[in-house]
Amino acid sequence: MSLIVQKYGGTSVADLERIRNVAKRIAKTYEQGHQVVVILSAMAGITDHLIDMARDVTESPDKRELDVLLATGEQTTSALLAMTLKSMKYPAQSLLGHQAEVLTDHSYGNARIIDIRAEKIKELLSDRQIVVVAGFQGCDPDGNITTLGRGGSDTSAVAIAAAVNADVCEIYTDVDGIYTADPNICDKARKLSVISYDEMLNMASLGAKVLQIRSVGFAKKYNIPVHVRSSFTEEEGTMVVNENSGMERLIVSSVTHDKNQARITLKKVPDQPGVAAKIFTPIAEEGIVVDMIIQNTRAGGKTDLTFTVPRVNYKSALKMQKKIAEEIGAEDVFGDENIAKVSVVGVGMRDHSGVASTMFTALAKENINIMMISTSEIRISCVIEEKYTELAVRVLHTAFGLDKE
Ligand code: ASP
Ligand code: MG
Repeated sequence: MSLIVQKYGGTSVADLERIRNVAKRIAKTYEQGHQVVVILSAMAGITDHLIDMARDVTESPDKRELDVLLATGEQTTSALLAMTLKSMKYPAQSLLGHQAEVLTDHSYGNARIIDIRAEKIKELLSDRQIVVVAGFQGCDPDGNITTLGRGGSDTSAVAIAAAVNADVCEIYTDVDGIYTADPNICDKARKLSVISYDEMLNMASLGAKVLQIRSVGFAKKYNIPVHVRSSFTEEEGTMVVNENSGMERLIVSSVTHDKNQARITLKKVPDQPGVAAKIFTPIAEEGIVVDMIIQNTRAGGKTDLTFTVPRVNYKSALKMQKKIAEEIGAEDVFGDENIAKVSVVGVGMRDHSGVASTMFTALAKENINIMMISTSEIRISCVIEEKYTELAVRVLHTAFGLDKE
């Protein structure tokens, strides 16, 4: 007998018929003798709809009340599922975030989980009940309802799995697993049977489309195996696990891309202590996340400095830098929005050399120019012209032997 946490996303509970299908799947797991805790999202589109309604009331809705409103999406599906299970004669009970004792900080709209006592969940489980918990919501120490950020029910699921010490956290979604590349642009992409937490964390957009990335950090910290799979098939999905759990360590397990970046260059910056701080402090104060930074050596006490920012922040960052350039005496500032970042990710990189040269050679063969490079222990990223993104993903996928037969 295992303790299984199952999380169903918005498309899996989009209407009453799908909720019935979910109930059947849960019933099957329960009949096998397992203990089951279910975490739900709101019906697909409902959270967006609630946000739109709030914005129709006022341009900037009160944050506390917005969370009270948004939490109703998950309250609805939890009640409907528990009701469905009971009508099928299964013992089930729904719990809202505060009833499940999901304690968070005060940050409405993007709260962080501080603690989950889960006493009520454990009590119901020992009574052979199926426990249905509303995802995405918690409450702060003063008892206010909070929500965990978009896609937050994944984090609810993994955190509750950690709190009850579950054997596995199954995430049911509308894709059937994690792929070696985006199947929409690389038709030779394969579904991975296993991937490590660190690889998921480094896959950026490719991973984030499937799981709220914060949930992966939780899973890693508490060593909870996460099974990403589809609620529309019986097929196994992808296991996200600790890399020391005996999984095959592929040198490169995925090729990812990110078109949401832009590049800013400051030309002929005085090469003096304190200049980089002057350039990046105002950016940090605006909450803009800088991903890559390159600084060249240069003659005459001047240097060029290039960095990337999220494309949504490009215009404001560029404006800011024009002002800073004047203050510090840099010659020019310019930027480029038509860039993309392609990355190769794999834990096997830790003990293999030659990954970078394979990557650069594959891009060179297609005449794709590399504008910036950055590396971490298990990832190599190159910034290239945006128009080559798809081509770059495909040639890298082939170069690292990831193509399916
Ligand atoms: N319903 C919330 C959202 O749409 C949380 C979730 O689905 O995970 O972001
Ligand atoms: Mg989701």
